[in-house]
Amino acid sequence: MIDFSEFEKNLSFVRDRISRACVASGRKPSEVGLLAVTKNHPVDAVDYASRCGLTSVGENRVQEASDKRAAYHGALRWELIGHLQSNKAALAVATFDRIQTVDSLKLLRRLDRFAGEGGKALPILLQCNSGEDPNKYGFAMGEGEAVLEAALGLEHLQVEGLMTIAPLADDPDVARVAFERLRDLRDQLSERFGVSLSELSMGMTDDLEAAIAAGSTQIRVGTALYGSRALFFDGEVN
Ligand SMILES: *Cc1c(COP(=O)(O)O)cnc(C)c1O
Repeated sequence: MIDFSEFEKNLSFVRDRISRACVASGRKPSEVGLLAVTKNHPVDAVDYASRCGLTSVGENRVQEASDKRAAYHGALRWELIGHLQSNKAALAVATFDRIQTVDSLKLLRRLDRFAGEGGKALPILLQCNSGEDPNKYGFAMGEGEAVLEAALGLEHLQVEGLMTIAPLADDPDVARVAFERLRDLRDQLSERFGVSLSELSMGMTDDLEAAIAAGSTQIRVGTALYGSRALFFDGEVN
């Protein structure tokens, strides 16, 4: 784990990248939120983010996040960015302030039920596999209407927008296309259903510039802030 001064340097470098990408696309840096991805790092990573004024952290495993949240006493928003199996839905609802990886009707219904039992309205994003990557979760572009319609009918969920993970590729156009497709889907759904869907969670360390150009409102950054993770933990499924 890096020390705090190194984190501060990394953060200012990331903020520079955000500013330059915003200038290039005529946007304001205040339109692009930064989610610090603390997965696979100790709870110090969460503390660093908070000390620098970041307000939310992203984790991809429910149990790991639950343990860290119990060990960390500051006020922060915790967001789930890893795939969620429905048997972990209850703990996920108890742990997270927002779940970004909602990708099935079954999961929607379970989250709604547990949010209702907890007496809360749970903010969610719908994860779309807009890059049509066979290795990624998310509903298909063509399922967007049906998934959103179901989500809007559930009393205890608040749909705030869409999320995607671009396919890994050497060609930067692959990510750009995945991001533009997500934005276009958002625009269509928003008009069709009369809801704002204002959050577009897209872009990570390697593709945040393309995501900002395509309209991202939240980039999720781990490696550029904290250095590399132990790779064999990466992508583990809940
Ligand atoms: C790990 C992860 C990130 C952060 O990726 P980096 O390349 O380390 O910035 C962002 N989003 C999701 C869904 C992730 O699983």
